[in-house]
Formats: sequence, C-alpha cells, structure tokens
Amino acid sequence: MKLSKGKKSNWCREEFEMRVVRTAGTNYLVLDKSAEETLVVVGAGAAGVYGAIRAKTIAPDLNVVVIEKGKPLSKVKISGGGRCNVTNGHCVDSVILAGNYPRGNKELRGSFFNIHGPTDTMSWFSDHGVELKTEIDGRVFPISDSSSTIIDCLISEAKKRGVNAVLSFLSVVLQTGKVVTSVSTSPGGKFSIKIEKRTIDYVEYVEADYLMIASGSSEQGHKLATQLGHSIVKPVPSLFTFKIDDFQLLELSGVTFPKGLTLIFEQKVGPMLVTHWGFSGPVILRLSAWGARDLSDSDYKGSLLVDFVPDIHIEDVKSFLIEHKNKFAKQRVISSFPSELGLVKRFWRYILEHEDLVGDLLWASISNSLLISIACRLKNCSFRVKGKGQFKDEFVTAGGVPLSEIYLNTMQSRIQSRLFFAGEVLNIDGITGGFNFQNAWSGGYIAGTSIGNMAIAANLKEAAV
Ligand SMILES: Cc1cc2nc3c(=O)[nH]c(=O)nc-3n(C[C@H](O)[C@H](O)[C@H](O)COP(=O)(O)OP(=O)(O)OC[C@H]3O[C@@H](n4cnc5c(N)ncnc54)[C@H](O)[C@@H]3O)c2cc1C
Repeated sequence: MKLSKGKKSNWCREEFEMRVVRTAGTNYLVLDKSAEETLVVVGAGAAGVYGAIRAKTIAPDLNVVVIEKGKPLSKVKISGGGRCNVTNGHCVDSVILAGNYPRGNKELRGSFFNIHGPTDTMSWFSDHGVELKTEIDGRVFPISDSSSTIIDCLISEAKKRGVNAVLSFLSVVLQTGKVVTSVSTSPGGKFSIKIEKRTIDYVEYVEADYLMIASGSSEQGHKLATQLGHSIVKPVPSLFTFKIDDFQLLELSGVTFPKGLTLIFEQKVGPMLVTHWGFSGPVILRLSAWGARDLSDSDYKGSLLVDFVPDIHIEDVKSFLIEHKNKFAKQRVISSFPSELGLVKRFWRYILEHEDLVGDLLWASISNSLLISIACRLKNCSFRVKGKGQFKDEFVTAGGVPLSEIYLNTMQSRIQSRLFFAGEVLNIDGITGGFNFQNAWSGGYIAGTSIGNMAIAANLKEAAV
C-alpha cells in the first residue's frame, strides 16, 4: 500500500489525502478527508462545472471532484460561433420558456425554471463579474463576444471554491483525460466509480457519497445511467439543416428569406437560408428540433412544403400577378415582377424555371392559369428532403435519461438515491437561442443545491451523534 499526498492542481485549493492502493495491476484511489463526504461529477461541461460550484458553495466542506475525459468546458468554448449564447433573455415566464424545448416542454413548466431560470443565470454571471448583453432576438452573450469570458469566470469560481479537476488532480501518473467507465453501488450506499485512461492500461477506483452525471450526450454517460438502473430514450440528433434534392436550388445558394417563411404542416415561421446543399436558418433548425424523432425514423427523407409569401393571402398573390401582367404586358417576365411579393430576382427566376417559363417571354403571353400556378407555387412550394446536413454552429442530442425517472425539483434519481443528473444527459433539448445552456445551468444549479443541502444535513446529523 502506498500513501501519497494529493497534488495541488491548478483548480485545487484544498489538501486531500489520497491513498493509491495497487492490487493486481489496478490502482484503487481513495480520497480521505476524514468525516467529509465526496461528490463526484462526471463531466466538466456547463452543467457539471456549474453544479460542482453550486454544491461547493452550499457545502464548503464537501469534497467535490470533477472527472473530465477531454478538456473542461470545451463546448462552451465553441458555442455560439465562439461567442457563447449563454441563455435567452426574452423568456421570463417558465411556461413560455418551456415551450422552446421539444423534449421537456411539458415537464419543464413547473419548478425547474422557477428555481433557476434565465434571470437567475444572468444574475449569477453578472454577480461573478461577467457583463452580459441581450440581443434583439433575446439571445444573451457576454459583452466581450467571447466564450472565454464565460469559461474564465467558471474556472475561476471553481478554483476559488476548491473544486478539483481530476483531469489534473488525479494525473499523478499521467496528465491526460480520464473517463468514468463504470459505476456500481456498495451495500453501504456509496458509489464505486471506475476511472480509466483511454490510452494505457490504467484503472482507478474512487468512492463517492454523491454522484452527479453531467456527461452531455456521451454514450459512456448513458451507460453509467443504465448501470445504476435507468433507462435511456434513444439518442437522435436535433438542430440540423436539410439536404434538398433540387440541383436548380444551387443557383440560389446564399439567398436568404429574412421576412420569414412558413413551413407548412409543422407551421413553423422564421427566416430561412438557401445553402449549397439545401436549406438552413432558424426556421429549418426549429423544424429539425421539433421533428427530430420523426425525421430520424424516416431516415431524414420526406417532403417539405414552404410558403414563400406567408404574409400575403393566396388570392392577393394571384391579384398582384394579374395586375402586374395588365400593367406591364410588354415587359419580360424574367426581369419584372410584382414588388409586393418581396422576392429576390434569383428566386423569381427559379420559380419561373419550375413553371417552364424560360426565354424572353413577355407578360402578355402568360395565361392567367399559369399565373395561378405561380401563385400556388409561391404559397405551397414542395421540396424533396434527401438527408440531414452538417450544421456546425449548434447541435444537440435529443434523448437520454427520461424525465419520468428523476425529480425535477432536486434532479435526484427516482431509482437511486444520492444520484443526480444535469444537462444534456437528460431527455431535454431546446431550439437555438441559448435554451440548451439554460437547461445545463438550471439542472446543474438544482442538483448542486440538493447535494450541498444533503451534505450539510449529513454533517449536522454526524455532529449531533
Ligand atoms: C458547436 C456547438 C455550439 C453550441 N452553441 C450553443 C449556444 O450558443 N447556446 C446554447 O444554449 N447551446 C449551444 N450548444 C449546445 C450546448 O453546448 C450543450 O447543450 C451544452 O454544452 C450541454 O452541456 P452539458 O454540460 O450537459 O454537456 P457537455 O457540454 O457536452 O459536457 C459534458 C462533458 O462530459 C464529458 N464526459 C462525457 N462522458 C464522460 C465520462 N464517461 N467520463 C468523463 N467525462 C465525460 C465530456 O467530455 C464533456 O466535456 C452548442 C453545441 C454545439 C455542439
């Protein structure tokens, strides 16, 4: 048996006694801080770090250890195009807020956002020195327009509170990321957590009183949840663009429809962008989020109906076209069209091509039935979706631990006491606009509060004995 003193990591303030027991090639690591309890957090993402800070704030004597297989807060770093869309400032009412979560919209109407919603998140960051701004569409960013501001704030808070990143803290042997590969419970109710290095044959075991799984969409995190008795709603991607089977669309690449389009059937309205592979933009991402599961089931194939003039009734579209024909009978169809429709020239040309109206035709030569056909195409244009595009700005996973298996007012498991979940590991996902981070902050905060309070209660009980 080897006894070693815990090394101070760059996050670490507190001294830990660390026993590394080596048996048959395996390192068993025991954190000894006498009577104090230990919380192990799986994953140093937004939920895990925020939750760890909260637990440590409530219960300063609690040993808090965060285990991260990669770099802490790596998604925060790349989020919002490097600006980090922290939350959404336009949704104060929790029912309206919950409506932005395709998975979670019913469950999140209650205590979840009332305990820690966007206003609380904004206050938290401004209380910790981060100046925020709310853009016209409600998205909240640090005033620096840099995600590093958010990371620096969280890391500095973690340091202040003495939250230890096992990434460096445990790396007595190797300074690379560590993965929690399995977990079990002992008869005494503690968690026995197996930690491995990916690259070499090295195993450690940590015992913990509380476990917070904040592993994002990682399959390993889902595996840990199942090992502790939870089920997993099959993960599928959300927030993606559509590949459209229409080579003529290529010519429209870069055209935006800022006024807003209606995607018929799903009734989603918003700006859309034509890309070199198909459609992108807020309305498409919203549609992909709400239809994530159906689209996955159909292998991302189907048809999409778009209303390109949602503000104008079909009869008015017809009238504008007929009036234009009467007024500009001698003009070329390709170069003149009703301004009331608010279309760009390239798109008008695209519509004409689909009606086989090519060449130097004059308005006078277009029959009224053709004009009606154009009007119908503008109001109800059908596209064949042939797949899912790669959208690099924001991407989340639908699926994970079902919300019916946890208490949303504490984030504690209904199956295993002292087990908590927060963030994307749960079957919660939001549309774009800061809603996904808000889920991570709210879940982390509630879990951290519950664990902190339980640790304090345990200490009091111990003191009373
Ligand atoms: C490109 C991009 C941009 C985005 N931009 C925004 C945005 O601007 N606003 C917004 O609201 N949302 C955004 N999102 C979504 C948002 O990033 C996620 O919803 C959020 O990060 C989820 O936080 P989390 O802590 O639950 O999970 P994660 O951030 O994924 O953190 C989980 C952590 O756990 C670690 N981990 C997993 N399994 C293990 C294991 N077994 N052992 C050890 N460590 C483990 C992972 O390495 C990871 O670091 C974006 C997503 C992407 C991909």
